[in-house]
Amino acid sequence: MRICSCCGNVDTMDPCTVCTDVQRDQSVIIVVEDVSDLWALERAGAMNAAYHVLGGTLSPLDGIGPDDLNIRGLVDRVAKGDVRELIVAVNATVEGQTTAHYITDQLSGLDVKITRLAHGVPVGGELDYLDEGTLTAALRARTAI
Ligand SMILES: [Zn+2]
Repeated sequence: MRICSCCGNVDTMDPCTVCTDVQRDQSVIIVVEDVSDLWALERAGAMNAAYHVLGGTLSPLDGIGPDDLNIRGLVDRVAKGDVRELIVAVNATVEGQTTAHYITDQLSGLDVKITRLAHGVPVGGELDYLDEGTLTAALRARTAI
């Protein structure tokens, strides 16, 4: 197995089958923490996009800084100018959100739309089992029916 030099995915070839797939919209990149997140999104099959695997999240307490993650490679990919949207699909944790903000900062000035996953009510979820943070996020991210 090899690590893709473009996106950080693990595959038998480099660049990986996702990066070389001409059927995908390579102008949309979904940014994930780990390869397992990439495959979770692939199983969902909701989007036919490219990926970028960070290899973790920023965590000063654990001594993980920007240079320990695949952020430079992401900035380089976007700087080439072929990316129109970056979907930051990191975990809804403090570290994940810190990482999302850092990435957004690094890309300021580049012509790319940056979005993130919605936070809120899980499919099949019942409101009275949700924590206050999730309910608040769901209310703020409400959409028209
Ligand atoms: Zn790849």
